[in-house]
Amino acid sequence: MFEKLNKIWQKILVVLHLSPFSLAGKVRIAFGAAIALVLLLALTIPYIWMNQLTKQSYLDAGRARSDSLLANHFQTIQSGKTNLPVLSPAGTPLEPNEKDIVWIRFDKDYESELAALPQEQKELVESLRRQQIDEALNFTVQDNKLYSDYSRLFRAKDSCMRCHNPQGLATPFSQNQIIGTAVIRLPADQMARTIFLNRLWIFFAGLIAASGAIIAFYWITQRVILRPIRQLRALANNVAEGNLDIRSSINTKDEYERLAESFNHMLDYLQTTQQKLRDANKQLDDKIVELSERNIELFKANKVKGEFLANMSHEFRTPLNAILGFAEILREKSSGPNKDKSRRYSENIITAGKNLLAMVNDLLDLAKTEAGKMQLHIERGSVLDLCDSLIASFSVLTKNKKIKVKLTVDENIPPIFTDIGKIRQILFNYMSNAVKFTPERGRIEIKASMLDDKALRIAVSDTGCGIEPADQPKLFQKFRQADGSITRQTAGTGLGLALSKELATLLAGSVGMQSELNKGSTFWLDIPITIGREEAPPAPENPPQMNQ
Ligand code: ADP
Repeated sequence: MFEKLNKIWQKILVVLHLSPFSLAGKVRIAFGAAIALVLLLALTIPYIWMNQLTKQSYLDAGRARSDSLLANHFQTIQSGKTNLPVLSPAGTPLEPNEKDIVWIRFDKDYESELAALPQEQKELVESLRRQQIDEALNFTVQDNKLYSDYSRLFRAKDSCMRCHNPQGLATPFSQNQIIGTAVIRLPADQMARTIFLNRLWIFFAGLIAASGAIIAFYWITQRVILRPIRQLRALANNVAEGNLDIRSSINTKDEYERLAESFNHMLDYLQTTQQKLRDANKQLDDKIVELSERNIELFKANKVKGEFLANMSHEFRTPLNAILGFAEILREKSSGPNKDKSRRYSENIITAGKNLLAMVNDLLDLAKTEAGKMQLHIERGSVLDLCDSLIASFSVLTKNKKIKVKLTVDENIPPIFTDIGKIRQILFNYMSNAVKFTPERGRIEIKASMLDDKALRIAVSDTGCGIEPADQPKLFQKFRQADGSITRQTAGTGLGLALSKELATLLAGSVGMQSELNKGSTFWLDIPITIGREEAPPAPENPPQMNQ
């Protein structure tokens, strides 16, 4: 039911162009309702007052008749006549030409006199007598004609008492006694017409006032309210399309003008900020160009540095190898009284030379990897054999430091097909760090397991000094060490982990670590078990050549 009514209401709104609700629609409805209310209130009072006036005129007419009736009676007395037909108790018409005036005296014949009256007049007289009201007016329809019935009570006054006293000729009255009533009937067709005309005029007045108000309100809403809003909306649309040069010219000297001024200020501000933004953007663009130029220069310088490093490392190796060779000859061929001394010195030269050679090799490898010149030697291998040989190569060192080494290789690891040498190099580096940073009687564990059916993890854990969380992120960067001070106790260049990371990337794998200070560290290598086309890392500038 409610839904049906709602639908009908919506249809009405659409027909009246009020839905969907616009400001104009709302204003129309609000003003329309206000006009209707004001007119209703304004016209109700004249409407009621005119009806009252019309009634009053009939009341006045009845009063005038009854007054003339009394005047007539007193004139008759003054004329000296004793028979006063006007106030005779007969209840008959008082005068032949005034048949609509009936006099009823409240005496013993009252009931019979009343019976002769029509029903409406009877009720009127009864109510007057009962309530002792001085006069009353009623309207009644008889034979399709409207009549007014006026009735008035007569009381005995001083003027009456002159004749109506016990010594007088007429019936004696007591002071203020209600003597009787006069019922006067007058045709009231004129009143119906007057009332009708009154209503018609009121209706026309309302219609004219409503039309005037509607026209006035329409003009007001269009010119004063809606026009500035439409102008502002057009302005906003223009701005939305990107035209920031446009400004509002509303000149209404009211809130709209102030709103338009605020709008204009906002547009000014917007334009200024946009200009600032454009300038900042341009500066940014210039900076980007400058930066990219610097970047290119840096890239070139880095390349030159890489090449220099590679060349230098390469060049270092020849004399170093020669020194090592001669030192070994010196060690073997030392003789004479200082034989032991010269053998010890030769030993020192060989150890220092080998360390230097290892560093130079690392540098050369790093430079080669960065330059994309590192070659891959893919071969089939076993993880178990690889780990066994790794542990064997550190056996002297671990034995010296009484470090326990544990190896766990999962059985489900298949033979791997990759560059075994590079994996060995990475694990060698992990292992040498583990041995270096693990105190005597510590533990090292090498653990190999499958990450999924294609990838493998080999992790080296130790119970060494561990690394502070703040130092951990930088360890795989070149030349970075957890302890960067010159007073550090362990030797090293900070190249091993950086090289491990580069090599792992070359093998389509990755490296990672986890460490807790004073508890130990774990470094791992994740690699695919088979390196082929799919698993190969994204091609560097100069892709590595595969020697299979
Ligand atoms: P190097 O060992 O030659 O200094 P690395 O790149 O191999 O260079 O290691 C970088 C640094 O990482 C080391 O200097 C050391 O501070 C820290 N580090 C590496 N492995 C361990 C480990 N197992 N325990 C504690 N610190 C380690």
